[in-house]
Amino acid sequence: MTKIIDCVAIGEEIMEEIQTETRELKAKGITPGIATLLVGDDFGSKMYRGQVEKFCEEAGFNYVNKTLPAEATEEQVKEVVLELNGDRSVSGILPLRPFPEHISDYAVINTIDINKDIDCFHPFNMGKLTLGEAIFPPATPAAVIEILERYARAEEKVDPKDFFEGAEIVVVGHSNTVGKPTALLALNRNATTSVTHVFTSMKENLEKHTLGADILIVAAGKANLIGPEQVREGAIVIDVGINRVKVFDENGQPVLNDKGKQKTKTVGDVSFEAVKDKTKAITPVPRGVGSVTNRMLMRNALKACKINYGLL
Ligand code: NAD
Repeated sequence: MTKIIDCVAIGEEIMEEIQTETRELKAKGITPGIATLLVGDDFGSKMYRGQVEKFCEEAGFNYVNKTLPAEATEEQVKEVVLELNGDRSVSGILPLRPFPEHISDYAVINTIDINKDIDCFHPFNMGKLTLGEAIFPPATPAAVIEILERYARAEEKVDPKDFFEGAEIVVVGHSNTVGKPTALLALNRNATTSVTHVFTSMKENLEKHTLGADILIVAAGKANLIGPEQVREGAIVIDVGINRVKVFDENGQPVLNDKGKQKTKTVGDVSFEAVKDKTKAITPVPRGVGSVTNRMLMRNALKACKINYGLL
């Protein structure tokens, strides 16, 4: 029987753990906090900013909103980062990218205090991650690993260490923010880890790798990239992808909404319905990995808070 992994429940469980730890810190007079840094008014970044604010409220964190106009200079942006570095009420700083073109990501990220870099953007923290000493594992890759660890304990009744060691893990996608750090986190747990990407597909070699996966992690941003022919019987599939696609009826006709526009829906990179029965366990989209990602960011902020107060 396929297990549809309940990522929403996992996310709620982690939020409760965060709330408990936050109460304990508050009893010592310490409140964790996150600051977001937005430059301009990119729609996706604004949405994300709102989500972070909501999660901070839910967890009992301080929240600081720094928004600069699109025409702010790089020096002005760096000054705000320096101000946040020195603010004890801010445990973690989250730059919301993309920045306007005249602001260098690199310059801003390198200004963040490495102990407040809660989504692992700074090269120092990426270096620590590579060495297997991650201080702040980036949120989405950390969510993937957390889901697998909790699945291992709850469903397979095995220690996550034994679950990962020697497992054949194939990651589809090699971005610096998702694919690559996910593969590193798996490798650091002694999984036999392969990373595939768009060039693997261009050489028509994707299947060759994915069919060997005990655990297949897909983060490509391509709806229906993975069908049953790419998945080994009994594999565990973690679908990180988030894609907005148009909705058609069974005759291939567009399904319209009240305003006469074609309906859209959110799907992952895996053809869920076609693949699920072939798997031992699978995460859905929506209500999948994304339900855990923000929680991992909050957990990093808690850790940053403890580091900044000398408690770790
Ligand atoms: P990206 O565009 O930076 O990277 C995409 C990666 O997929 C690249 O490495 C590319 O080589 C690979 N790829 C593209 N087409 C491919 C193909 N045909 N075959 C094999 N590999 C292919 O994207 P990203 O930031 O890494 O995000 C990946 C997906 O994960 C997106 O859908 C994004 O929305 C989603 N995402 C989800 C969460 C979450 O919390 N669930 C968080 C971040 C990103």
